[in-house]
Amino acid sequence: MKAETTLHDILIPARHARAIRMKRGQEVTITDVAGGQVGDVFAFAADDITEYHSASHTRTGISRLFPHVGEQFLTNKRRPILALVADTSPSGTHDMLIAACDAQRYAELGHPGHRSCAANLQAALSGAGLEMPSVPQPINVFMRIPADTAGDLSWLPADTKAGDHIIFKALMDCVLVVSACPQDLTDINNGTPTELHLSVNQGQ
Ligand SMILES: [Zn+2]
Repeated sequence: MKAETTLHDILIPARHARAIRMKRGQEVTITDVAGGQVGDVFAFAADDITEYHSASHTRTGISRLFPHVGEQFLTNKRRPILALVADTSPSGTHDMLIAACDAQRYAELGHPGHRSCAANLQAALSGAGLEMPSVPQPINVFMRIPADTAGDLSWLPADTKAGDHIIFKALMDCVLVVSACPQDLTDINNGTPTELHLSVNQGQ
């Protein structure tokens, strides 16, 4: 087995986010450390963050709500930015329909000032010297919001166990932001937000 060099090894604290820069061909493993935790993933082109992963363009490309292993995620310019390499989550369900939680969402739930993935994204980008005025639709890893045949959505708790993970390959130089979702007012994180782990290696 080929030895792999880990380029980044980052623990994302519960309710926080981190930004990492990835070169084309590198792979990131996002691990649910304790289990039952959702992550909001955003991917931006490294040379122009107005180009970013777009869920609607990805759905156009694959005719599915979420890619199978081996399929690609597209940007708003229809260029491949990520590929799904592996997924150990029990149901393999990852939402790309629900917006990132934000200040208004928590205000409506009666908790103004609550941490949010939208604010986490802005803070993580700011820490990387970047600014993005809008919040793209995230890739909500481990988040289970299945659509039934009538089109109705269910909000289910993440069913990941400790150590379950998903792996993406960068198909262009990009900035990846991962937020350990702070949502504790619905069941998606089983009521208690926990940490996520990122590791990046050179890929195969
Ligand atoms: Zn969130």
